Amino acid sequence: MSYHAYIGLGANLGQPTEQLIWAVQQLQQLPQSQLLAISRLYSSKPTPGSPENQPDYTNAAVLLDTTLTPHQLLVQLQALEHQAGRVRIERWGARVLDLDILLYAQDEIHTSNLIIPHAELCNRSFVVLPLLDIFSTLTLPNGVKVASLAAARLFDDIEITADNTWWHSKD
Ligand code: AMP
Repeated sequence: MSYHAYIGLGANLGQPTEQLIWAVQQLQQLPQSQLLAISRLYSSKPTPGSPENQPDYTNAAVLLDTTLTPHQLLVQLQALEHQAGRVRIERWGARVLDLDILLYAQDEIHTSNLIIPHAELCNRSFVVLPLLDIFSTLTLPNGVKVASLAAARLFDDIEITADNTWWHSKD
């Protein structure tokens, strides 16, 4: 049995777009998984309350069909973050690559190292908008429509920087 998992991608150090392209290429090769869809590319301001003087973030989301369990998927994503050279300096701090499991099927998971749906999903325009690119009628396990989260917000902290062909490697 395979399940749909939505992954959030973010970066604001180094060359963010190149790092996200690299991440997509790695996700295409993830074991027991198939990459089904990719959002447009966004640029967003660091969230209020995060360390100051950080560059803007580049964000996207992808949809995987996978037979990995949520925890197996987390291990794979953390290995990719590590490979990308992420150094965990401070919480909410700048980062080379951030990969989060936003949703996994209609599962609700609360363990010490994994919360699904992702704890900040509802609060972040850089998560909500890429999710809607992929699936405009997406619904959370609690029945809330993701589109209703977008309608309730003013998206003045985010802009679209590329259509959903951004990840096609230029070489
Ligand atoms: P962050 O610094 O935001 O990337 O947070 C990383 C930590 O969040 C890791 O220790 C993960 O175990 C934990 N975590 C909890 N829920 C999730 C999730 N849905 N996706 C990715 N990491 C998660």
